[in-house]
Amino acid sequence: MKITVDMDKCIGAGLCVVAAPQVFAQNDDDGLVIVLNENPPADQHEAVREAARLCPALVIHLQDDND
Ligand code: SF4
Repeated sequence: MKITVDMDKCIGAGLCVVAAPQVFAQNDDDGLVIVLNENPPADQHEAVREAARLCPALVIHLQDDND
């Protein structure tokens, strides 16, 4: 899995951090998302999918590979 985030459109809602705290964090200054791990391990994939679903700005994009 490869994560990309459209940073221009992130509104800092932080739901991704709630859903997958091991993969997403928020910038202390502006609250925008920080991707801690663009290639999360398999045990994080469900949480990352949940984060992408919850993101109100729909800026989290996931690319699956065959793992
Ligand atoms: S949930 Fe979406 S809009 Fe909110 S901080 Fe995460 S990526 Fe940005």
